[in-house]
Amino acid sequence: MYHSLTFNLNKKKKTIYYFFVALLSSTIFACQSSVDQSQSNESKATNSVKPLVEKVLTAEEQEALTPDKVLSMLKEGNRRFVVGTLTARDHSAQVRNSTFAQYPKAVILSCLDSRVPVEDVFDRGIGDIFVGRVAGNFVNVDLLGSMEFGCKVAGAKLVLVLGHEHCGAVKSAIDDVELGNITAMLSKIKPAVDLVSDFEGEKTSQNEAFVHEVCLSNVKNTIKEIRTNSLILKEMESKGGIKIIGAVYDMSTGEVEFLEE
Ligand SMILES: [Zn+2]
Repeated sequence: MYHSLTFNLNKKKKTIYYFFVALLSSTIFACQSSVDQSQSNESKATNSVKPLVEKVLTAEEQEALTPDKVLSMLKEGNRRFVVGTLTARDHSAQVRNSTFAQYPKAVILSCLDSRVPVEDVFDRGIGDIFVGRVAGNFVNVDLLGSMEFGCKVAGAKLVLVLGHEHCGAVKSAIDDVELGNITAMLSKIKPAVDLVSDFEGEKTSQNEAFVHEVCLSNVKNTIKEIRTNSLILKEMESKGGIKIIGAVYDMSTGEVEFLEE
């Protein structure tokens, strides 16, 4: 009995020991390979690309842009982001060159999510785009005012509403989360949940297909809200001065899917 107990204990200890050795080696290997990867990326970047002192857009250059041209610039920028060939910029020079004026190309409304680095996602630099952010990328009077400033006053040619997959705000709206000011904030996203009430399948935040549908519905609903509640932007759009477009950012690939109408 005693021997068998000791044997079992030893066996358990050995199993635990092997488990930790395996865990440790896999962790070390993972760390090492990520260090190797970042070193090789760094050396690739420093060998092949020199920082550019990009010219900040002038009023005349901005005036010459069209909404479609800006849209294709954002698409091309996103391609560079996806394949890892982002433009190397001299940010401190750009800061100095844009001190007294700005003539950005677009207004982008994004979620608050830290995993969506908007300028990088479209390979844009300082003075290139206005970025408005709020969890769940909806609009209220303040964001509409900001968009009107960006387009009507500062000359941007495109309004892009950028949702993203796996959005915590969208999931919380689906789950009817109630907490402090978050409750009121989520009430702005809930209409998007109601708009897909005919979804066939489990309507919970656990169901990725449903979360995706609500994400799309939320982007489309935000665009509808912009057109309904901003006469300025609606008029600019109808005269062809700007375009208002939706898009969804894919967390796993970095790719942006543009929802053109
Ligand atoms: Zn989000």
